[in-house]
Amino acid sequence: MNLILLGPPGAGKGTQAQMIMDRYHIPQISTGDILRAAVKEGTSLGKQAKTFMDRGQLVPDEVVIGLIDERLRASDCNAGFILDGFPRTTPQAEALQAIFANIEKSMDHVINLDVDPEELVRRLTGRRTCNNCGGMFHILFHPPQKEGVCDRCGGALCQREDDREETIRTRLKEYEKQTAPLIQYYQNKNLLRSIRGGGGQNQIFEQIIRVVDEKVV
Ligand code: ADP
Ligand code: ZN
Repeated sequence: MNLILLGPPGAGKGTQAQMIMDRYHIPQISTGDILRAAVKEGTSLGKQAKTFMDRGQLVPDEVVIGLIDERLRASDCNAGFILDGFPRTTPQAEALQAIFANIEKSMDHVINLDVDPEELVRRLTGRRTCNNCGGMFHILFHPPQKEGVCDRCGGALCQREDDREETIRTRLKEYEKQTAPLIQYYQNKNLLRSIRGGGGQNQIFEQIIRVVDEKVV
């Protein structure tokens, strides 16, 4: 099962990708997570990416395309994968198609999480992530039992550098300009499955299961 999760920042791609991973045992491939890990390690990739990420801008296509090309060749992708945060531009989508042709894979579904823009800002500003295990929380919608502490592992919860309000506005603009055109792109290929991403996370997940399982049967 090869899936793409599409949607604006704050639509819940990361949360849903983790839930899909747990249920279907396929890896979540998040370019955002890969880039953040590189920034933390201080690699040359990380240094290159950091300036863009801190401003809320997209990292150049060549950089992320190279990452994905390499990642999709790993053996844990044999039974399928969920792409979360890639592709984000038309050149990335076209490169992905070429990569797939090369490694003889194809796409099953592109799941588009559709959320109102006003809701996105509220979600992003309250978002907190565990430093240690990557667990995700929200100060309003999914608060941890103890403030600032991860329920899963006891690690410290942090706010992402790019989840500050000015940066969020830039990310939403980048999304509208560069990523939203992919909705039509995948619709034309008959791969798009749009889901209203406005409800609770379990409700959204139910709809994803319906899309995915239909294909399995
Ligand atoms: P969100 O979807 O909430 O914006 P991500 O974790 O997916 O968060 O991405 C965070 C940042 O990482 C982006 O703002 C961008 O700078 C960079 N990034 C992630 N994926 C891509 C991509 N496919 N192309 C370019 N930049 C990316
Ligand atoms: Zn944790």
